[in-house]
Amino acid sequence: MGTAPGWRSGLGWLLLLWLLSTLGFGWLLRSLAVLVALLVLVPAIAVVAGQWWWRQNTIADACPMCQGEFTALRSTSVNCPHCGEALTVVDRRFTRYTPPGTIEVEVQTIE
Ligand SMILES: [Zn+2]
Repeated sequence: MGTAPGWRSGLGWLLLLWLLSTLGFGWLLRSLAVLVALLVLVPAIAVVAGQWWWRQNTIADACPMCQGEFTALRSTSVNCPHCGEALTVVDRRFTRYTPPGTIEVEVQTIE
């Protein structure tokens, strides 16, 4: 048998009104306030936490080779996007990456 959808929603509204009058609007307003606060606070906290994580885990500095500034994730080694130089992060600054055991020797001319 086909019951009109309007009848059903009308009953739903009546039930809602009955619930409201039974439980009280104060309770509803309080739970709505909590819900709205959660809806506002949760994304705000997520954004703040994301920014905090980003600041903790990224380095923004200039490349020591080409002076090009870029932001990179804090990792053991990174390649400069401007000149491709292999860099490492030391004290939140980019420094040239020299593989262990490699000694940079300046070419000396013997006279
Ligand atoms: Zn560079």
